[in-house]
This record gives sequence, structure tokens and C-alpha cells, in this order.
Amino acid sequence: MHEQELNQLTIHEAHELLKSRQVSAVELTQSVLKRTSEGEDRVRACITVTDDIALAEAARVDNHIRTSGEITPLTGIPVMIKDVICTRGIRTTCGSKMLEHFVPPYDATVIEKIRAENAIIVGKANMDEFAMGSSNEHSAFFPTRNPWDLSRVPGGSSGGSAVAVAAGEAIYALGSDTGGSNRQPAGFCNVVGLKPTYGRVSRFGLIAFASSLDQIGPMTRDVTDCALVMNAIAGHDPQDSTSVPHPVPDYTRKLIPDVKGLRLGVPREYLVEGTESEVRLALEASVKKLSELGAEIDWEASLPYTRYALTAFYILAPSEASANLARYDGVKYGFSVPDARNVIEATERTREEGFGPEVKRRIMLGTYALSSGYHDAHYLRAQKVRTLIIREFDRAFERYDALITPTSPTVPFKLGDKLEDPVQMYLSDVCTLPINIAGVPAISVPGGFAGSLPIGVQIVGRPFDEETVLRVAYAYEQATDWHTRRPEIR
Ligand code: GLN
Repeated sequence: MHEQELNQLTIHEAHELLKSRQVSAVELTQSVLKRTSEGEDRVRACITVTDDIALAEAARVDNHIRTSGEITPLTGIPVMIKDVICTRGIRTTCGSKMLEHFVPPYDATVIEKIRAENAIIVGKANMDEFAMGSSNEHSAFFPTRNPWDLSRVPGGSSGGSAVAVAAGEAIYALGSDTGGSNRQPAGFCNVVGLKPTYGRVSRFGLIAFASSLDQIGPMTRDVTDCALVMNAIAGHDPQDSTSVPHPVPDYTRKLIPDVKGLRLGVPREYLVEGTESEVRLALEASVKKLSELGAEIDWEASLPYTRYALTAFYILAPSEASANLARYDGVKYGFSVPDARNVIEATERTREEGFGPEVKRRIMLGTYALSSGYHDAHYLRAQKVRTLIIREFDRAFERYDALITPTSPTVPFKLGDKLEDPVQMYLSDVCTLPINIAGVPAISVPGGFAGSLPIGVQIVGRPFDEETVLRVAYAYEQATDWHTRRPEIR
């Protein structure tokens, strides 16, 4: 196979070639690194490219395959890691000046798990600072661009990861999703992004944004790859008390191109005001396709509390962030002003200089919502709304096996378009963040195009029923060819 094409393979395709010794891990790694060196100046998906480490690892892994014959699905496959996930010995910035020079002394559990399968880490992906944002424009370093149209955003906060997968700078990526950060950029870049059920994947070593909402998940080129990555990263971890001890199924088991008898609901509240017509049309066409494949569709599903999800999210997530980010005081981690006269000045100036404007906005919002006198009116109320939303999803899943919605109400927008208007930016996640509030799993799969711009379709499932989510996604994918399209970067 021509070297130029290796970087475009899926995990399962590359695995077959590695297993039959038609390609080596070194060749695969060289191919993605070559792509990175050619394309990075235009898309800028990476904060750190770990080319030397990756090539040395790949040589070691080739040797390991040769001598032991051992090869699992992720062995020798190049992967990009969102820079919010700690990697031992590799700088982990979280897209922030605060952690610009932070080199973690340990690996996140997900990294340990993929390293145990001899994965090849090729870099750390750009992101909105501390995962707060929907466009990658809040990165403290530089914005990432959408490979389908360089004047547009790739989505966020896992924008760098999505672009790396779309543009061929890795075969797959790991991202994190607190309110849509895997799914919205996946939709904007024509890749697959999953947010697993809260507690399904360990958060140990994931730099915290909002701990009751954060989950790590795969970003891949197809649904089979997504299932393979879930097989590797899911499961209980004694280091994360919120991870659950449920057994991990083989997520590829239910990947059958058949949805006969499944009941799917299309909740009308997810076609919010402002949903672009192309997005609506793509959703309708996708649902029609699923109906042709044998699913029973209810076009009139309804989850009325969805209306309050955005408001509740922007109380809960900033509240948790304001507590989580209190640790960046210039003493324990990362950036510290060198010339402060006393401890108060040191803390103030470290936070003033180390955090960007969006992070400061969240800390202020959260601190306000938690402050005495306002706590009950804001935080407690948002928690009550959260309970109502969870119950509403429980009830919906008595009737439906999965729900189908747009991933985002719009196609990728232009850089700069929403930067001055935080509320417009927040609305970008109106379809994805209720899912984090409820803690249930959801995937975004390629669902069509508006001209050259990708559109994502979201499939939402019952808690710990990633298998049904993947099954619906797989059946849809096999009946369409959106996922096979790759951007030509100009
Ligand atoms: N865009 C949302 C926010 O800015 C969610 C981000 C995320 O999922 N990390 O908070």
C-alpha cells in the first residue's frame, strides 16, 4: 500500500495489515507524522508532536510483535491524545498557560490501558483552555482550523483531536466530554465521537473541569473503531471512585447492520429555535434511513425539561470548575509569578496571568453561584433541575431504546463569529449537554453535509447501554457513506 494512504486507515484496517505483516508500526507512524508535518501549519491540531518518542515506540512495538506474536486491536496504531489527559513524561498543558510547562509524573488510567496494548502516542491535541469552549478559539496558544473549510472552527473543546482524526494526523484520538466536547467537534469534522455513560471510563489522570459531568471517550473514523477503543478503555478503576464495577462487554458484539424492532424517539425539543435548515434536513433523512432499516420511529417524542438544561449546565459546570480550579495557586502546579512580594499577591497574579478570559468567566460564574446567600437560589436549584432531567430520561427510555437528535443546531461556524458572545457559543452545545447532565451515553456519527460542511447526528442511549447506541450508529453508518469522505486540505 502506498505510504500516503496509511494515515487514512481505520484502526481495524490497519490492524489487519499489521497482523499480516504487510505494514509495520514504524511505517504507520511515519505516515501520520509526515501528514502532520505537511498539514499542521494550516490546521494546527497539535500542541505537542511526540515524533521522536513515537518512532522509538513504534520500532519497539514492531520488535515486540515479531518476537512475541502478540497483537491486540490497538497494538502499533498511532493515537492523538487531547491535552487534558495526563501522559507520563509528555507535557500536558490543558490548553492553558497555567500548565504550559507541566509534565505529569504519571499516566492517566486510559493511557496506561492503551499503553498496555502497545498503542503509539503521536501527540497532544489542541483544545479550549481547561476544556471550556466549543470552538478551540479559547486555547491559550492558537486556534485549530476545520480541515473542511479553514476559515471555520473545528468545534470544541476536543477540536484538535477531531481534526487530527479527520486530517490524517492520527488513526484515532482520545478526547473528553463535559457538555459535548467529543460529539460537537466530531460532528463538525465528520468523525465519530462518543461520550460514554458517566462512570464507564476512568477519569483518573483527566484534568478536572466539572467532575460530575466529565467523561473520556474515543474519537474515530468509524463506529467499529469506536467500539474497539471502548473495549480498551472502559472498566472499573480503583483510582476513580466514580467508575463503576459493571462488567465490560465486547463492544463489537452487537455491531450488526440491523435495527429491526428497535424503538427510536426523535425528541422535538432538540430541534431548537435557530436550528439550521440543513441540519434539520440531515436529521430527517437520517431518521428516515433508520426507519427503512426497520426501526420503529416516534417523531413526536418529548423531553420538556430539556429547555432548562443549558441554564442548569451553566450553573453546575462553572460551580464545579470554580472548586476544581482553586488548586492552581502557583504553589502546587504549573505557572507561578516569580517576583511576588507576598503570598496573596502571588496567588492573585498567578491566576490573573495564568488563566484566559473564558476560564475566568467560568470561575466567577461558579464562585457566585456557590456563594452564601446565592447557593440555594442557583446551585441547589440547578441540582433539582438536574434530578428532573435524569428522571425524564429514565421515563423516555421506558418507551424508546434510543433517541435521535442533531449533534449541534448549526454547521461549523466561522472563526471569530461567536467569540464576543459567550451565550451564542454556549448554545452550540444545546443538544449535547443535557446528555452529560443525565449521565447517559451518546455518540455523534457523520450524518450528511451542507455543501462541504459536515453535519453530525446524535444517538442517545440508556445508562451503560453503549452497545445499543453503537448498534444503531453502526447500522446507520453501514447504510450511508458519509463517514468515508475525507477533507482535502487547501
Ligand atoms: N462547550 C461546553 C463548555 O464550554 C462543554 C465543553 C466540554 O464538553 N468540555 O462548557
